[in-house]
Amino acid sequence: MMGSPSTVRVAIAGSSGSIGGQTLDVVRAENARPERDVEYVVTALGVGSSVDTLVAQAREFRVGVVAVADTARVAEVREALPGVRVEATMSDLVAHADVVVNAVVGFAGLDVTLATLAAGKRLALANKESLIAAGPVVRPLRSTPGAEIIPVDSEHCAIHQCLRSTVRPGVEVSRVVLTASGGPFRGRTTDDLRSVTVDQALAHPTWSMGPKITIDSSTLMNKGLEVIEAHELFGIPYDHIDVVVHPQSIIHSMVEFSDGSTMAQLSLADMRLPIGYALAHPHRIASPFGRIDWKNLQRLDFASPDRNTFRCLDLAYEAGRIGGTAPAFMSAANEVVVDRFLDGGLRWTQIAEIVEESLQRHQSLSGPLEAADIIEADRRGRETARSILSP
Ligand code: MG
Repeated sequence: MMGSPSTVRVAIAGSSGSIGGQTLDVVRAENARPERDVEYVVTALGVGSSVDTLVAQAREFRVGVVAVADTARVAEVREALPGVRVEATMSDLVAHADVVVNAVVGFAGLDVTLATLAAGKRLALANKESLIAAGPVVRPLRSTPGAEIIPVDSEHCAIHQCLRSTVRPGVEVSRVVLTASGGPFRGRTTDDLRSVTVDQALAHPTWSMGPKITIDSSTLMNKGLEVIEAHELFGIPYDHIDVVVHPQSIIHSMVEFSDGSTMAQLSLADMRLPIGYALAHPHRIASPFGRIDWKNLQRLDFASPDRNTFRCLDLAYEAGRIGGTAPAFMSAANEVVVDRFLDGGLRWTQIAEIVEESLQRHQSLSGPLEAADIIEADRRGRETARSILSP
């Protein structure tokens, strides 16, 4: 006779977005299997202001706890979900879960990252900005007993998997190679790109994602942020992190070892794979996502990124190497600039120009950093970008 499945309680902060919805897909698929040994129970959901989605999700998964960041909508949620506990903040969801999926968009995800690690729980981290901006504050919390970060980012999930082939990563890893699809504007020149529209920038060739990250992919800022993310997650020095353009998005990243071996992780572009990996680690989910049909895989191409046209890549390296508050400042400036671009108030080529000008105005803080310093750097990054946008 089979024993009853063990239970993993899952909270999703930012459940109405692309990652949130795909996390629920993974849970549906896993829980539909009759012979499962793990039962994923969605215990808590949080959204910014997408109340309709929250209510529908909470009803389907019989969720007992929710949070909505937009306080003006709380009464509506209470009315729609009688008997469901409405917490004051997204961070309050952490107490109700074993695994917290942080899918909040942008710097607003920092609180959930800090709260999850401080509670000694597993953080399935899709909100890369919190780690990138607040590396110096997040780092010490990672040693909380029970705390761990499993990245929900295809590249870092790939690196995480490749690193499992060494027991001495500090000695044996010679290089990490992040792959980049190159986005919709691969092969184009700066002159060419002055007149591209928001819709063209939003048309990513291989991945379907939220608008902010899709624009970041078109500028290669996303890849630059992922370089910082890889440095923070795995402690790899910047000089040992490379980026290679790989337009098919089949190889999600690679690790090269001291003996010349390279390990790579391959699958089709499907975020449900990294989500499932983060939920089940150190095991694997049983529902396959992104399986490769080798008969139809024509070719795998590689090229160096065009660092002049896609300036944001090196801006992120620069901010990462400066360290301290620089990544927070730059990432915040980028959020403001990307928002303005999405509103139609900016040329695509100005994104890198304004982020660069902002970064030049950053002033480093010395000494150990606290969360307040990061929040202040974030505020200044936004303010600086805004002042450049509207002098
Ligand atoms: Mg990624």
